Amino acid sequence: MREKCGVIGAYSLGDYDISQFLVRGLESLQHRGQESWGIAVIGHEVYKKLGLVMNDLGDTYNVGKMHGNVGIGHVRYSTKGSTTIENSHPITIGKSLYIAHNGTVVNAEELASKVSEQFYVSTSVTDTELVGFRLTQLFTKYKDWQTAFEILNREIDGSYSMVILTENGELLAARDERGFRPLCIGYQEEKETYFIASESCALDFLEASLIRDVKPGELVKIDKDGFSTFMFSTGVKHAHCPFEYTYFSYPSSYLEGINVYIARKRIGAELAKKYQSDGDVIIPVPDSARPAAQGFSVESKIPFEEGLMKGRYRKRGSLRSFIEPIQKRREEIVKKVTAIKSTVEGKDVIVVDDSIVRGTSSSIIVGILKKAGAKKIRLFSTFPPIRYPCYTGIDFPTQEELIVFKVCKDEKDLNLINKAVASALEVDFVGYNDIEGLSRGIGLPIKEFCLSCVTGDYSCLKYPLKFRTRKEMKG
Ligand code: SF4
Repeated sequence: MREKCGVIGAYSLGDYDISQFLVRGLESLQHRGQESWGIAVIGHEVYKKLGLVMNDLGDTYNVGKMHGNVGIGHVRYSTKGSTTIENSHPITIGKSLYIAHNGTVVNAEELASKVSEQFYVSTSVTDTELVGFRLTQLFTKYKDWQTAFEILNREIDGSYSMVILTENGELLAARDERGFRPLCIGYQEEKETYFIASESCALDFLEASLIRDVKPGELVKIDKDGFSTFMFSTGVKHAHCPFEYTYFSYPSSYLEGINVYIARKRIGAELAKKYQSDGDVIIPVPDSARPAAQGFSVESKIPFEEGLMKGRYRKRGSLRSFIEPIQKRREEIVKKVTAIKSTVEGKDVIVVDDSIVRGTSSSIIVGILKKAGAKKIRLFSTFPPIRYPCYTGIDFPTQEELIVFKVCKDEKDLNLINKAVASALEVDFVGYNDIEGLSRGIGLPIKEFCLSCVTGDYSCLKYPLKFRTRKEMKG
């Protein structure tokens, strides 16, 4: 399983029903996954659906019947396996353990061999099921979740931010020792309810206060006595994913104490300082690059304007293109973007995007701007050149699909990479950010990040990585 998803958990000490909280939390995490959603509430069968959260009246009826004071939920963005109900979360383990997972297990085979000592492991088993079965084995043996996670942590390689509903009605939350994916804890005083969420934006919607991030290597347990925490791993170098700051997370969220919107603005300003570009107007590729374009504009004193509009009021037009599971569907969404002619016609346009990964969306955007009469196009990316695949939660599993690898293979000189990508995209200039500018913009030191997709250094994983084909990943 490789999933870049959103998870939520809720425990009401005041015995309030939490199913509506889970649903509202998932709606606010919709930007992390649009393929399916589901919730598990104590005492009920898990409820899962394909598509966006609460997309028909049946959902309102069914969720309305799920009374209970503790539960978990999940929205899915798949990077392995197809979009099916079976692959959707929460996953049920045995009779009454539920697990919702955001991350990647890269050594599923090793985990499967341990699990198969006690359970039958079918060929279709998912990595999340393997984690669930292994935790069940360990908890049955040691009767203690901390010990179970200490052992699991030694055995498992990859990234995970997960929430678990146990058969005793406890809510568990765990974040891998590197902290690849975000996870935070909040509290809503009026309803005496603790929340665990992928991002703090969910807490805002639930009128809960952010207590803090779950630390890398930390297990949080919430039960009738309140919340307690244990460290199952300490002293390991962090590897937060900077893609969370540039693209994935919601602008109002705080990750590691840093507001995503502010970080994006600062990254845009860093780009402007680095390239000292001139131009008539700065426009963002909607939506995630908007703060960076604003930061670029303030620093360069070139006016910021809206020049591209998403087809928000059309069916599927408001969806995020990058997290769609197949290329055709990604392109369909980008093709619904329209240019504002009055902004770009006859102008020297600076376009700011959060990243240029495969180059296919950028190519469509360039075509739209040219058609609208842009005289000159300079394209800037807040994320540095991506030349290697991601195996820790983002869906680009092969080098061959990456534009930087395609057009300049092993070239390391940023100016030459910029030129080669500009030529491939048929624009006047491309300016990628560098790692230093990204780190300064976010406000965390370089050593705090995973940058495997930029550097090719996968030492934040425990075992040597084997690159796989897209077919192996997506079937
Ligand atoms: S490889 Fe790149 S996208 Fe994947 S977790 Fe690391 S920094 Fe993020």
